[in-house]
Amino acid sequence: MLKKGTKMYSILTGNCPRCHEESMYEKSNPYTLSKIFSMNERCSHCGLKYKIEPSFFYGAMYVSYGVGIAFAVAAFVISFLFIGTSLLTTFIAIVGTLIVFMPVIIRLSRNIWINFFVKYDPTSVKKHEAVKT
Ligand SMILES: [Zn+2]
Repeated sequence: MLKKGTKMYSILTGNCPRCHEESMYEKSNPYTLSKIFSMNERCSHCGLKYKIEPSFFYGAMYVSYGVGIAFAVAAFVISFLFIGTSLLTTFIAIVGTLIVFMPVIIRLSRNIWINFFVKYDPTSVKKHEAVKT
């Protein structure tokens, strides 16, 4: 599943959606909280500009809603159905999960969002190098 060239690879690693050669982020670890929104301007391998248009990543907020629900459902299933905690504990577990995984959810949403618009193109690196020289 985590093979280079699949959208899943770019989404889970936060790598450039076009060439998959480097991280889009200044700090690839989402828990470097002060840098969570800091993205490189362009991919140094293929030259892709990540912010396709101004405020491009606002759209990722819609995605983060869905991703957040997925995490909440997972927390509910694990806590209430598997461990068998009370509803109140389950609720606390869901809120806790959303807080702890917020950086991951934010990053995943951006990665999913940009992958809607950019396709993997293994030839893009060569094309970019051809332009540079
Ligand atoms: Zn790239």
